[in-house]
Amino acid sequence: MKIQFLGATREVTGSKHLITTDSGHTILLDCGMYQGKGMETDAANRDLGFDPKTLDCVVLSHAHIDHSGLIPYIVKMGFTGDIYCTPATRDLCALMLTDTAFIQEQDVRMYNKKIDRQNPHKEKGKKYFVEPLYNQNDVNRAMKHFVTYSYDRRFRLFDDVLLTFTNSGHMLGGAICSLEIYEKPTPNPSLKGGEKNFPLGEEEGEAKVWKRVTYTGDIGRPHSHILPSPQLFPQCDYLICESTYGDRLHDEELVTEEMLLGVVEDTCVYRKGQLLIPSFSVGRTQEIVYVLNQLYNDGRLPQIPVYVDSPMSTNATQIFRMYPDILSDEVRDTMQFDPDPFGFNTLRYITDIRESKALNHKDEPCIIISASGMLEAGRIKHHVANHISDPRCTILIVGYCEPTTLGARIQQPGLQWISIFGLDRRIKAQITKIEGFSGHGDYKEMIDYLTRSLQVEGVKRTFVVHGDEAATEAYKGHLHDAGFRNISIPEKGETVEL
Ligand SMILES: [Zn+2]
Repeated sequence: MKIQFLGATREVTGSKHLITTDSGHTILLDCGMYQGKGMETDAANRDLGFDPKTLDCVVLSHAHIDHSGLIPYIVKMGFTGDIYCTPATRDLCALMLTDTAFIQEQDVRMYNKKIDRQNPHKEKGKKYFVEPLYNQNDVNRAMKHFVTYSYDRRFRLFDDVLLTFTNSGHMLGGAICSLEIYEKPTPNPSLKGGEKNFPLGEEEGEAKVWKRVTYTGDIGRPHSHILPSPQLFPQCDYLICESTYGDRLHDEELVTEEMLLGVVEDTCVYRKGQLLIPSFSVGRTQEIVYVLNQLYNDGRLPQIPVYVDSPMSTNATQIFRMYPDILSDEVRDTMQFDPDPFGFNTLRYITDIRESKALNHKDEPCIIISASGMLEAGRIKHHVANHISDPRCTILIVGYCEPTTLGARIQQPGLQWISIFGLDRRIKAQITKIEGFSGHGDYKEMIDYLTRSLQVEGVKRTFVVHGDEAATEAYKGHLHDAGFRNISIPEKGETVEL
């Protein structure tokens, strides 16, 4: 068996790892997109590093675009196999891949316009213009390839490959993927083609040549409001693990409810202003809404309107409501007396663009939660442009922002002016941050999780992926301190025989 690392190597996007079994089956672990501004990452995304026509299947850890975003592209390029994931991941993919197709088409349209302007005298031919990686039709075709299995069901991909998903607590539907691969299958002549060559329940024993490969996808935090803590997963021989926060620790046990309530009271009650919360549509928004819902149920949330102004967030929340079985005990306890933990009387979900624009003319205190989380686009950018010069208002950052994004730039201490939509605006609103909402475990939390799940001395090799240069190096050291051996940080394209 061999594994080739095709993305998320010393970086955090484009997760793709290709396993080829001795019997010739090819299994792609995640099919993530490189994410960047506009057309920046277009070439990297088109260069897959494998032929989709000969790929047998995809095992998908979760729906985040840096793990799932190229699925419609490989289908467009000839992939005909199955995509295995949990039911919630499938539903979220239907939503998120559609959104990504829309963004692609927009980016490409802008790029082509620019090319057209720059080359007014060139003959207009296709070769000057770029096509989007994929469109909505490709997404629709891709969705037909999904096959879903619930957590903790051990199922057969091929005669010689078994797979189990374990809840990773990172996002709704997110899974640790545990593969068991039978290395040298000996066909049983008494069975006809397509029948099992060996029993599903084969356990320890002399003849056993199963190799167990576990891919963590992304690992969540032990304490989340709406997701369970990451669940223990089966022993493995080879571990491919993420390292996003491989060199960082989160602040100790932040009491996010109290902090959020403090910001709400300060902004909306004392200053009578508007509180704007840029937030990712899937995960973060539901977590904030859930915390506000708890404050509402406790009678502590001030009587002010709360708007979730995003069609994507509205649809994603609907998917969260469909899966109470995989949410946290806390959410299920709440549902005993409050059937909708993502809705309360003063909360409204807004999808209509006219209603969204009407929010700009409201002058009364309110909370507006909207995408995108890094303030790069979306409705929140308009709301921020309208309110950033109002000293009564607060812009509350609740997630990581890439250094070049507007979300990161407005956080620079002492900054007085900022350009939004080409206009310089005076910063008078308060800019505040709450960090406790991260979806990734820090290195201590991840190591604790790995060492509780695994007999570390039984793990023969460990591969560190999905982290930047500093994070992967630091995390390698932390893994070593925890007893892991033969730890490597693969390069892009590197193939390893297992
Ligand atoms: Zn993720």
